[in-house]
Amino acid sequence: MIDTLQIKVTENSNPRLAETDFKNIPFGKTFTDHMFMADYEDGEWKNLQILPYGPIPMSPAISALHYGQAIFEGMKAYRLPNGDVSVFRANKNFERFNISADRMAMPIIPEEIFMQAVAALINIDKGWVPTQENYSLYLRPVMFATDASLGVKASDTYKFFLLASPTGPYYTKALKVKIETKYTRANEGGVGYAKTAGNYARSLYPFAQAQKEGFDQLIWTDSSTHTLVEESGAANVMFVLDGKLITAAIGETILNGVTRDTIIELAKDKGITVEERKVTVAEIIEGAKNGKLTEAFAVGTAATVTQIGEIGFEGELYKLSETSTRTVSTSIAKELNDIRNGLTEDRFGWNWIV
Ligand SMILES: *Cc1c(COP(=O)(O)O)cnc(C)c1O
Repeated sequence: MIDTLQIKVTENSNPRLAETDFKNIPFGKTFTDHMFMADYEDGEWKNLQILPYGPIPMSPAISALHYGQAIFEGMKAYRLPNGDVSVFRANKNFERFNISADRMAMPIIPEEIFMQAVAALINIDKGWVPTQENYSLYLRPVMFATDASLGVKASDTYKFFLLASPTGPYYTKALKVKIETKYTRANEGGVGYAKTAGNYARSLYPFAQAQKEGFDQLIWTDSSTHTLVEESGAANVMFVLDGKLITAAIGETILNGVTRDTIIELAKDKGITVEERKVTVAEIIEGAKNGKLTEAFAVGTAATVTQIGEIGFEGELYKLSETSTRTVSTSIAKELNDIRNGLTEDRFGWNWIV
C-alpha cells in the first residue's frame, strides 16, 4: 500500500470548467483548473502541492532551457459508465518516466508521489473528465532542471509537475506517410528510448519538410543504414504482413510504447501471430507492391490506432489495398477502447480506478 502524502491544496478561485465548451477542445490546448507541482532540492522531493493552473515564475538561466534536461509522459483518464474515473496503465508510464529520468541524469520520482499526484489532480478536477464517447482527460507529467547556472552539468534541482487536458477524438482519416531516409529520430547510444524533450525538437524540421511534400507523417528508419523501420512520428508503428502483426523490437532507438505493448497483448490473446523483430523497409515496400501488406498503423496514447493509407519511399507512392478491411487493427482498437472506457471486462487489470 502507498502511504498518504502531505499535499498542500490551493483551490482555484476562478474555475473555468463551467464556461468550457467540450465540443470544441483541440488536442492539448485546454487545461483543467489545477495542476500538481513538487520541487527536488537537497536530494529530496518537497513542496508537494495542488495549485491553480497557471504560469510558473522561474529564472531565465534554468538549465532545462539551455541544455535540455526535460522529460515527460502522456497518459489518459477515462469516464466509466458508472461515473468512476479510470487511468489506463499508469504504472507503465510511471516506470518509463524513471527510465527517462535515469538516462537524462535526473532524479527518480518515487511511485507514491507520481501516483498520488495523478489521484489528487483527478480528484480536484474530476468534473473535467469528459463523459462523451471517445473523449478522455489527457495527463501530462513533466520534470525539468531548474538550476540557474550556465555550467554544463546535471542540475541539482528540478521541478515535477502534472497537467491535465480534456481531449476529443483524433481524426480518423488514413495517413499518407513518408519513409524518411535522411534525417533520424534516434541512434544507438542516444536517447531514443527516453521521452525527453530534445527528441521531439529534432523531429520538427524533418516533419515540416515532409509536410511540404504533402505527407501527414514520417516513418523513421535506423540512423546507420536507413533500411530498418523504427517508429512513425511520436508513435510506434505496426504492420499486418502476410496475416502476421509485425513491429520493431524494443531497443535503444525505439520508445517502449504502452499502447504498443497493450496491442501486442491483445493480438496474442486473439491468436494472431506477433513478431517483434527487425522490420525492413524492403519487406514493407515489397508487401505494399504484392498486396501482402494489408494493414499499417501508428499506435500511441494520443491517437490509439491511426491508419496509414499511403507510404512514400524514394519518390514513389505505395497505396495500401483499397479493399483492405483492416480487420486486425480495427478489432484490436475496438477492444482496447472498450476496456479503457469500461464497456467490456478489464481482463488484464489495466484500469486503475482513481
Ligand atoms: C509517447 C511515444 C510513443 C507512444 O507511447 P505510448 O506509451 O503508447 O503513448 C511512441 N513513440 C514515441 C517516440 C513516443 O514519444
